[in-house]
Amino acid sequence: MESDAYMRSPQDQELINAARPFVRKMILSRHDFDAGGVASAIRTVSGNIYTGVCIHLTCGIGFCAEHAAAAEMIKHGETQIESIVAVSKDWILSPCGRCREFLLQIDSRNANAHVILPKGRKMLLRELMPMHWLTDHSWKPEW
Ligand SMILES: [Zn+2]
Repeated sequence: MESDAYMRSPQDQELINAARPFVRKMILSRHDFDAGGVASAIRTVSGNIYTGVCIHLTCGIGFCAEHAAAAEMIKHGETQIESIVAVSKDWILSPCGRCREFLLQIDSRNANAHVILPKGRKMLLRELMPMHWLTDHSWKPEW
């Protein structure tokens, strides 16, 4: 799926456009605690779009924008992602490893979710998580 020649589809642009208005960084209780620096949008297989923003705190209790968008999706009774993107003010961001794992554990069919990436790339989540323990059963004993 990865290709330097990837041309952004109108559907991908729509998803990016859904996330961008929510990028508005807010300082919280301390100058280094903030929210909204990254926003994410998910399109589910049924065509609905859900959004979320990050909350950066300390002690590992904050969460990424993808995490918040997935919570919004689940709030509406859906789990299967068709495509996802995360954006900051000027950039498209690749999902962190925790979010990749998070999305796969929500629904293993999300291995086939399209992830819109920086530099005009787009890959399937399973390409970003090769040999995943939920979807790759090659770990079964051979003896
Ligand atoms: Zn993340």
